[in-house]
Amino acid sequence: MARPDRPLALITGASRGIGLAIARALAPDHDLLITARNGGALERVAGGLRESGGKVEAFPADVVEPEHRQNLFRWIEALRRPVQVLVNNAGIASSAPLADISDTQWTTTLHINLTAPFYLIRALAPRMVEAGWGRVINVSSTAALKGYKYTAAYGASKAGLAGLTRALAVELAGRGVTINAVCPGFVETDMSTAAIRTIADKTGRSESEARASLEKFSPQRRLIQPQEVARIVAHLASDDAASINGQLIAIDGGETA
Ligand code: NAP
Repeated sequence: MARPDRPLALITGASRGIGLAIARALAPDHDLLITARNGGALERVAGGLRESGGKVEAFPADVVEPEHRQNLFRWIEALRRPVQVLVNNAGIASSAPLADISDTQWTTTLHINLTAPFYLIRALAPRMVEAGWGRVINVSSTAALKGYKYTAAYGASKAGLAGLTRALAVELAGRGVTINAVCPGFVETDMSTAAIRTIADKTGRSESEARASLEKFSPQRRLIQPQEVARIVAHLASDDAASINGQLIAIDGGETA
């Protein structure tokens, strides 16, 4: 079946950072459902997108809370049209040496970054298959492609998301539905700002030295901009990307090459 004129797209973690950039990139030719925990921030994003002509609904939800997910699914069901583009972007990052990773840090990271995307895909992908056209785009990380010190929980969650992507891409291949992952290096968002502060606190370096230490990971010697990730996501959501399936697309200036 053909791509609908304006597919319904659900973007998680769309209140800021990469998710916000993805919402802006998809708004011109998708009807958007955006979600994150902070309802106020989400409404501000929705309002801004509507002012520029976007058709956007905001639904505050914590992706790890079963009741929130059920409410989200019921709300989607009531729209009487399937979500045909799902962007699993909501995520958290934390760092700690192995011995200091708490049980809670491990399970929370896995739950938000890996298990919640699984629940969302399991609930929404069957309707894409029924409709004969769909796109799932998971926001993974270069941490799925290489090791970084002190990020065992984060790396495990993002590598798990990469594995989920490949397995489901093969399972659903040939039915008009593709599942891909983008794997950005360090992107300029609140998440990398928090990482810079942690490095500065733990090492006694200044924030600009800490930032330079992240920039140095990329041969481009800079952080990636959220829009650079968003444009690749928009491409993967389009018909032009119909033959890209099960791929882990690094957006890292060559860091993992
Ligand atoms: P960010 O600025 O911290 O934004 C994270 C987004 O996820 C926010 O909208 C946040 O909104 C939402 N979120 C967090 N926990 C949630 C939960 N339990 N339920 C629902 N929403 C939740 O992070 P970002 O840098 O844009 O990262 C977006 C994605 O890219 C993440 O998956 C991250 O791992 C990945 N990534 C980031 C980088 C980087 O360097 N920044 C690099 C590679 C991959 P609320 O707080 O309101 O819920």
